[in-house]
Amino acid sequence: MSTPPVKVLSITGWCRNGSTILGNILNEIPGVFHVGELHFLWKNAAGRGVNEQCGCGHKLVDCPVWSTILPVGRPSGATLEAHADTVIRNQLGSARTRHTWQVLARGLHNAQLREHAGLLSQVYQAVAERSGARVIVDSSKMPGEAALLPHLEGVTPYYLHLVRDPRAVAQSWSKPKDYVYAMSAGKSTGYWSGFNLASHAINRRYPRQSLFLRYEDFIADPEGTVDTVLRLCEIDTAANPMIDRTIDLHSNHTVTGNPDRFRTGATLIRPTDDSWRTGLPESAQRTTTALSWPLMLRYGYSIRNGRV
Ligand SMILES: [Zn+2]
Repeated sequence: MSTPPVKVLSITGWCRNGSTILGNILNEIPGVFHVGELHFLWKNAAGRGVNEQCGCGHKLVDCPVWSTILPVGRPSGATLEAHADTVIRNQLGSARTRHTWQVLARGLHNAQLREHAGLLSQVYQAVAERSGARVIVDSSKMPGEAALLPHLEGVTPYYLHLVRDPRAVAQSWSKPKDYVYAMSAGKSTGYWSGFNLASHAINRRYPRQSLFLRYEDFIADPEGTVDTVLRLCEIDTAANPMIDRTIDLHSNHTVTGNPDRFRTGATLIRPTDDSWRTGLPESAQRTTTALSWPLMLRYGYSIRNGRV
């Protein structure tokens, strides 16, 4: 008997867009499992990334979930490090953001993509089996890999393109966090534009399985947003775990993400977050707007004062 396909909700967009907390809210729903940023599993587990810790607090190689998933798809005799090298080579060689359009147009058109898609398919199915979940939330935000999902055996993909005001994103990147380095406003906004253009292309290619969402609309109405995401994935909204803007968070098994992912207990989603207006220097605000205003207008952000 064949097993039913695993639903994978891929959150796309650029970092600091609220994907970690949204994923962790969804993780509280029975049958839903937030893997965090799966893209970094092999790199981080092999000690080549900036952070080797799972959301549960263990190192990825010692985590009760990931220690059993890491050998999946690894050729017999290959070390974790050698396998990580292959995965990273495939990711960088054929599944970067700039490759998104080629993957959308031509599918698995080379051996690297076929190998990587085969691995992802096995890993998503192994996670579903190990966790008992039918829906996996992947907040990797890597459009080049997200575009592979419709080509994975045993996977039904859904896409959530999550966008946040690039000035708030630039402010967030201006300060280093626990294991996350800092980035200039110009660099952050360059990535913001590229990742969002590629994410938009995926939603256009697969409109029936895709949703566009602004972070600002999510925090204005978190319960309603979760309902909308559940409807996208064809999950009963009665499963929505939020009450009065509050979510009771338990430990999770996220592969990297915002350092807030380690937070557990009752967590309030605050309705506004516009500290960039005073916290981001005016010169950086001007740089950000100059680089991104066409997309800002498309997404409904005022180039004068942030929100429309
Ligand atoms: Zn874990």
